[in-house]
Amino acid sequence: LGQHPKGGNASIRPEGIGALLAVASGKGGVGKSTVAANLAVALARQGRRVGLLDADIHGPSQPRMMGLSARPASPDGTRITPLEAHGVKVMSIGLMLDPAKAVIWRGPMLMGALQQMLAQVDWGDLDALIVDLPPGTGDVQLTLSQRARPDGAIIVSTPQDVALLDARKAMDMFRTLEVPILGMIENMSFFTCPDCGHEAHVFGHGGVKHEAEGLGLPLLAALPIDLETRLAGDAGCPVAAGDSPAARAYAELALRLIR
Ligand code: ADP
Repeated sequence: LGQHPKGGNASIRPEGIGALLAVASGKGGVGKSTVAANLAVALARQGRRVGLLDADIHGPSQPRMMGLSARPASPDGTRITPLEAHGVKVMSIGLMLDPAKAVIWRGPMLMGALQQMLAQVDWGDLDALIVDLPPGTGDVQLTLSQRARPDGAIIVSTPQDVALLDARKAMDMFRTLEVPILGMIENMSFFTCPDCGHEAHVFGHGGVKHEAEGLGLPLLAALPIDLETRLAGDAGCPVAAGDSPAARAYAELALRLIR
């Protein structure tokens, strides 16, 4: 992985993908990878054939979140067999390289890795391929948008102004590249005190809802700060695989996106 890409502007979208959905954010740390993993697991629980491509090449989180550490096999030395966890086919650069080492690559290397993770991985026929993008508006987003033609982008943000500011830039990029924006997700929307039930709006109140309304976009979900979500992500078993309120919220989100 990570060689210089050949193939100019040729399509790198794998055959047999029903819907290619990009999960994006302006800032890091807002829960984009958490949403991508849980959406994939929720779709799989609804009987969909789902793939999860971790395109956050500098900071791959999906091996940890999906509980994977083995190296994907390549029986013929060219094609790569994705790993499978919680009913989802998963591919991440973090499965191919030493997870403790920094990936110090420039744009062309990043695009080569993205190209290979799309085109050289045996995804098979899928109802949905969820792509966990890096934060921001860089080379990977550009290449994916132009050469894999996503069917839609989902924008994850916290309600905080600094996160929203960058989310706006990400949405502007998708509009410019003619990728449909399916809607926004407000993550870490509020925190309910487990002792007294008080609702605290740690990152502000309703910022993403307001932003989505202003842009005429659906607010796809407003997800609270949830200890179980964090613990499950760290343990490699996404909360959507269980039976908590968060799992139900992700099931609803999955139904809204793929019917
Ligand atoms: P990003 O992909 O935007 O960088 P992550 O999905 O890696 O963000 O999330 C950052 C951290 O926040 C992780 O530890 C994750 O478990 C945690 N997290 C994400 N969403 C929630 C949530 N709704 N409640 C609690 N913790 C969350």
